[in-house]
Amino acid sequence: MPDGARPVRVIALMNQKGGVGKTTTTVNLAAAFARAGKDTLVVDLDPQAHATLHLGVDPGTLEHSAYDLFTGDVPDPASLVREIGPKLSLLPATTDLAGVESELAASPDRQRLLERALDRLGGRYEFVLIDCPPSLGLLTVNALAAAREVIIPMQAHFLALQGVGKLLETVQIVSRGVNPRLRVTGVVLCMHDPSSTHTREVVSDLEAFFDAGREQETPWRFARVLRPAIRRNIKLAECPSFGKTIFDYAPDAPGAQDYAALAEPLVKEWNLLMARLASPPAPTVTIASPAPAPTGAAG
Ligand code: ADP
Ligand code: MG
Repeated sequence: MPDGARPVRVIALMNQKGGVGKTTTTVNLAAAFARAGKDTLVVDLDPQAHATLHLGVDPGTLEHSAYDLFTGDVPDPASLVREIGPKLSLLPATTDLAGVESELAASPDRQRLLERALDRLGGRYEFVLIDCPPSLGLLTVNALAAAREVIIPMQAHFLALQGVGKLLETVQIVSRGVNPRLRVTGVVLCMHDPSSTHTREVVSDLEAFFDAGREQETPWRFARVLRPAIRRNIKLAECPSFGKTIFDYAPDAPGAQDYAALAEPLVKEWNLLMARLASPPAPTVTIASPAPAPTGAAG
């Protein structure tokens, strides 16, 4: 963060598995933050450009996109950003992004290009959500280098748990190298069916895993299963084809309720943190206390 700019909450939504709810969560959680009054930017870092499409922008019509952040052709990253709605903006993707992995293989600062670009946007956005591609390659590493937090969208299946181990390993590597401040905030359960016994078992395994690691110095030391889980809701699957967030497409649907409720405590905790940073340190209070008992032999 450049000196003097307001703090920015940069969150990477990451899971190397496709179809788990990354894009749906990025777009609708970002929209929920915007509705809560936060200037929010979605960065689409997936060459499939699903978040871009979901927010109603056709990647085929774009001359510039997130790809330009990696080639250094764009003098000002702000020129890539599109305003989508009140307090909601998008840094769109195009399929060109797929080339980044090979084109930058030999570039020494290739892991920090996104971080630099976001720094140059300064404090314009208070929340930045990065939709990662379904891989653990250079694009995802750029997202992890630029972010302070990781949120893992996943479905509560046994096999998904195994993928979480691999994902945390990548987070650990990045936190030991490029970004020591990186923290895993938690898991968002997507397409959730709380009535299934198997689902409940997976969720309690996940909670037990996080609880068992509280004493270790890992980036997921404070991670939790975020609530509420996002229920399976057909409206969430429909809204991308209309280029709308769930709040614009079906504001009364369970999907809108769930994403709004998921955003609420995240916004509250951030507001508290900001208030604490802004307020001067509390004055030292002197409490009248009995004189300390004399020590030593004399007395
Ligand atoms: P990813 O970005 O991880 O590949 P998506 O967010 O694109 O995953 O979700 C995969 C598919 O599941 C999409 O078709 C999306 O519309 C659908 N989907 C995501 N979340 C839900 C949900 N809670 N209920 C119903 N469909 C969902
Ligand atoms: Mg996606």
